Amino acid sequence: MDNKVKTYLQHFGISEATQRFLGKPQRMFIGGAWLEASDGAVAAVIEPSTGGLLGSIPMGTAQDLDLAVRAARQQFDGGAWSQLKPLERERLIHRLADLVEQHGDELAEIESIDMGKSVVQARAVDIQGTVDTLRYFAGWASKLHGRTVEPSLPGNYLAYTRKEAVGVVGVIVPWNFPLQTMAWKLGAALATGCTVVVKPAELTSLSALRFAELVQEAGIPDGVLNIVTGRGSVVGAAMSSHPGIDKLSFTGSTPVGCTVGKSALEQMKRLTLELGGKSPAIVFADADIEAAAQAVANGVFFNSGQVCDAGTRAYVERSIYPQFLEALAKYTATLKIAPGLDPDCFISPMVSPQQQQRVLEYIALGKAEGARLYYGGEPLEGPGFFVQPTIFADCDNSMRIVQEEIFGPVLVTAPFDTVQEALTLANDSQFGLAAALYSNDLGKVHGLIPRLRAGTVYVNAHSTLDPSMPFGGYKQSGYGKDMGAEQLEFLLETKAVWITLP
Ligand code: NAD
Repeated sequence: MDNKVKTYLQHFGISEATQRFLGKPQRMFIGGAWLEASDGAVAAVIEPSTGGLLGSIPMGTAQDLDLAVRAARQQFDGGAWSQLKPLERERLIHRLADLVEQHGDELAEIESIDMGKSVVQARAVDIQGTVDTLRYFAGWASKLHGRTVEPSLPGNYLAYTRKEAVGVVGVIVPWNFPLQTMAWKLGAALATGCTVVVKPAELTSLSALRFAELVQEAGIPDGVLNIVTGRGSVVGAAMSSHPGIDKLSFTGSTPVGCTVGKSALEQMKRLTLELGGKSPAIVFADADIEAAAQAVANGVFFNSGQVCDAGTRAYVERSIYPQFLEALAKYTATLKIAPGLDPDCFISPMVSPQQQQRVLEYIALGKAEGARLYYGGEPLEGPGFFVQPTIFADCDNSMRIVQEEIFGPVLVTAPFDTVQEALTLANDSQFGLAAALYSNDLGKVHGLIPRLRAGTVYVNAHSTLDPSMPFGGYKQSGYGKDMGAEQLEFLLETKAVWITLP
């Protein structure tokens, strides 16, 4: 850890538990053992609020991944985990949830320091979301069952279906909600009796490694969860083509999702892909304008826009467009730009200098494409990879800043005149992760919900997530669902059993 990071941590003060964790060498978690990469390679971990050196993590190899798959396979095929009764699995997952809750402040600090995000938001959203997801899925362990069927075939048969765990699940996650995204995939996998190998994002692996310590403390047998840190092109690629992985659950960008999906399908792996988005928000004149402006701003600037379902395109009824933009800018100006550990931080830094550069390039592109820069858009002085929240007005759907996922605090807006025009603009995207409607006219809202091509529709809010509700995209935003009872179907095989009776 360099002096910049030390001074930052001292300034805001972090818990002794976090200091202990950050002070020790990081290792991968494979078959219950804490290992360096087989070739000893490591990568630096950079703290985004200061740009300073935080530490290092092992850069695993295909060989390390293979070791982890073997450990997971051994537990699935007859190991202690496979012998547990559903209620015993349920109890262990609950114990893990309790430990995550108990260590919630520490995990939030680790997430904030590693990813750059607001520590307050991390505690309230990432960590609480992790606890809630584990608890929700724990309860499912004892409620999975098939059905008995009465066939019309001549003869006498007992016909029934069995739900069986799909096997070893490979999990690949991105850097924006590292622990929570992993928990979405892990909770359901453990409930169904699967075993898991996780590859965290190379930029944000620390919370997964601390979580693995809690998995051990909870008494979950070694090998049920394995964490292999490393590059996507090495560990991720090895995972998507490894014959020992039965199901791949990937969250990340659409281009990488396509590569991973193709590779997985070559072996008929079961597949879930949670991919990118460019979610629209439609604001009608009958909405509460102040409340809608706040919800739209929160929906795009939360986690500094590094959110897959961020509402990054706002279409606003023309009669209120100027007033709405004004309310939006006024509220946005109240969002504090600050280092992640600052308790008042709302706009935290981008995760990396590359991500900061990418967002700044899109802002420059928006100007060049002729969008009207309405708010922000100026570079911010370092240290840290900050980008000002930025609002473009009078955008056209043909612009790249309207069609491409920027993954930063950039909102594009445009006026519309009719309901049909708003719908056409909203659906005019390769993505279909989410959409939001702001209106108090229930008839209009209910009329539009079925016509929006999106996996989630929010009304008068944005990003209200709960483990009981499925999350996943239409179109290029993905394939399959995380969370909700729907996710379980993607982790279970259905076996049809025919017994000929005398
Ligand atoms: P990314 O696609 O670059 O990386 C995601 C993960 O894939 C990382 O762990 C990375 O190491 C790994 N990876 C990279 N190349 C790989 C390869 N060739 N084979 C296998 N794995 C590989 O995405 P990112 O930049 O980390 O995250 C941002 C993206 O994630 C955005 O597009 C965002 O919309 C998306 N996302 C989607 C959801 C959702 O639920 N739909 C949630 C969060 C983020």
